[in-house]
Amino acid sequence: MKMSQLAFRPEKTPPKDAETVNHKLLVQAGFVRQLMAGVYTYLPFGLRTLKKIEQIVREEMDAIGGEEVLMPLLHPAEIWKTTGGWDSVDVLFKLKSRTDKEYALAQSEEEVVTPLMKEFIQSYRDLPRAVYHIQWKFRDELRSKSGILRGREFYMKDMYSWHETEEDFERFYNIVKEAYKKIFSRLGLDSKVTEASGGAFSEKISYEFEVLTDAGEANILYCQTCDFCVNVDDIQTYKEGDPCPRCGKDKLKSALASEVGNVFDLGQKYTKAFDLTYVDQKGERHYPVMGCYGIGVSRTMGVIVEKFHDERGIIWPENIAPFKVSLVSMKETAEKAAEIYKALTSAGVEVLWDDRDVAPGVKFADADLIGNPYRIVVGTKSLSMGGVELKKRDEEKTEIIPVEEVATRLSK
Ligand code: ATP
Ligand code: MG
Repeated sequence: MKMSQLAFRPEKTPPKDAETVNHKLLVQAGFVRQLMAGVYTYLPFGLRTLKKIEQIVREEMDAIGGEEVLMPLLHPAEIWKTTGGWDSVDVLFKLKSRTDKEYALAQSEEEVVTPLMKEFIQSYRDLPRAVYHIQWKFRDELRSKSGILRGREFYMKDMYSWHETEEDFERFYNIVKEAYKKIFSRLGLDSKVTEASGGAFSEKISYEFEVLTDAGEANILYCQTCDFCVNVDDIQTYKEGDPCPRCGKDKLKSALASEVGNVFDLGQKYTKAFDLTYVDQKGERHYPVMGCYGIGVSRTMGVIVEKFHDERGIIWPENIAPFKVSLVSMKETAEKAAEIYKALTSAGVEVLWDDRDVAPGVKFADADLIGNPYRIVVGTKSLSMGGVELKKRDEEKTEIIPVEEVATRLSK
């Protein structure tokens, strides 16, 4: 992509109303624009990164047998009245048509996916099943000031599963847990899983995947030695400084975190509400146990910015950066840069070429702000010796590499 041809460019200063790093940097670097609190447009850079995160999530859900669908955002009120959600879900956006028919906007999809699966789950042979989609959600959140961390409209992966028994849900949960750990580690994030709130005898078991960040809204207590972690809101049992109840080797530490994913044991609530049953081997009818599994795809993008930045801008992990390379050229070196641009793109390397007619200082500042992992500068001095300057976004050292080696080096 050539920057001279783009409508959307980085700004010199961050937006004045922004309170969080992700809001500041994503707007200033030209990744998103805010329409109103909690509602954002994704510009080309932002969309590229969002789609790359989405693709990593998709690969790992496919790998554990999730079947991808795309469900509607506009729901008839009836399905929400069937489960009681119409009156009890406080974040549900409700609307009326011009003929006074009532609708809800998707805040999640249990009410759609359960009746959908009635047709496809009939016998024990049809279980277990896992269906997911990656789609926008709408929630009437009271506060939405943390950039894309808490949207009124946000992008989520939500998967739903059906099982013969509670034990089978537990078995599958452990598979999903590993897949989630893999997703977050592919995104460069260390996720902590909170203990099931309520414990094994509670009706509603939930697990939360938390990433430490001061921009998050969750208060957690965690052990720095083993993987013990609890959400402070749910428990009165532990406090900071207590010895870890699991390993006993360390003291519990408190921290702020952002919930990037979670898992709920839904029991038979939805299968009963929509009368989804299966016939077992003896010919008896039962309600399957259901689980749901969310990942906040857009929130995760914001969390990554909160974790990976410096005073100059964003530092994207390579696999989700909008481009692998920022190519910077001067007026005098534009011709050579065009050759390098061509060589890189034909080698399959994603390049953002800053070919604008602006001062080199502006180009360097914008390359750092946008945060692609590599920067190549085509300068007159290095070019006179047949080379260009290569620098990694997260390192200070630069290196001169021969022009003809650029494509092979960067396509590795
Ligand atoms: P929170 O406690 O942060 O409100 P939640 O428990 O309401 O989250 P879920 O309904 O389980 O979340 O949604 C699944 C995932 O979607 C969450 O783990 C989170 O990553 C993301 N998410 C939830 N609400 C929002 C929001 N308003 N904006 C962005 N992402 C969200
Ligand atoms: Mg919520």
